[in-house]
Amino acid sequence: LAADSQRFDSVRFAGKVAVITGGASGIGKATAAEFVRNGARVIIADVQDDLGRAVAAELGPDAARYARCDVTDETQVAAAVDLAVQLHGRLDVMFNNAGIGGDMAASSLGAIDLADFDRVMAVNARGVLAGVKHAARVMVPRRAGSIICTASTASVLGSLATPAYSASKAAVLGLVRAVAAEVARSGVRVNAISPHAIPTPLAMATMAQWFPDRSVEEHRRILERDMHEMVGPVLEAEDIARAALYLASDEAKYVNGHNLVVDGGYTVV
Ligand code: NAD
Repeated sequence: LAADSQRFDSVRFAGKVAVITGGASGIGKATAAEFVRNGARVIIADVQDDLGRAVAAELGPDAARYARCDVTDETQVAAAVDLAVQLHGRLDVMFNNAGIGGDMAASSLGAIDLADFDRVMAVNARGVLAGVKHAARVMVPRRAGSIICTASTASVLGSLATPAYSASKAAVLGLVRAVAAEVARSGVRVNAISPHAIPTPLAMATMAQWFPDRSVEEHRRILERDMHEMVGPVLEAEDIARAALYLASDEAKYVNGHNLVVDGGYTVV
């Protein structure tokens, strides 16, 4: 049975091609690995060149390629999409996942620097729209494809992050709904994933700003335990990767304009 399920895993996404922004680290890296394990080929699009190249090398040259892609620059996003088509003749999945936390240290409204709002929105919202736009450019004429955008539980909860971060993630939900409605008749689907706290570099940097006097181990415990309702299992980047795999798959062929919250029930408790 194990051998059978392994064989199934390796062919499930055979022939499929995905671009993953923010693929050099955290959720994006775990998703790249999950897609490749299921037979897909991936373009890891990120601004961390060394990490991105290392992830691609680990996944293997036939399965993964690194492309430098700053999502705040539309031409670089367009180029990452075009690279997928150039290399593999198609784009099946666009995972708009790159994100930044911004300045999480501002403890009151009066301390907020509006320039930080612009920086966060440029990556987390505008960068996602650029990815959606250019993925749709190649997917809509083929009448197939799955576009997935990383939001956050901060998109629906007010107490988890700064106004800039929360607004940027709420913007992701808004644009996902608007675009899903626009492309619904084209065979292309657009959905969001909202992860809850996971100790990736982004979230650990946030903890360091919130709790500068506490240790890295304590930061990890807060993210893995204190910020969750679930007892027992810990939310991992791989859980988000599997949610992305589902949204990308034919099993989700009727799922469109949805926000898949992966939080163990945190937002409903
Ligand atoms: P991470 O820091 O491990 O990964 C983020 C990646 O995005 C990094 O590789 C970074 O280089 C890349 N990136 C940043 N700015 C970029 C840009 N301008 N262009 C291209 N790439 C850029 O963090 P993560 O937690 O894996 O973050 C992935 C997504 O998940 C983000 O959108 C984040 O907001 C979201 N998210 C994370 C959590 C969490 O607790 N970790 C919870 C909810 C949502």
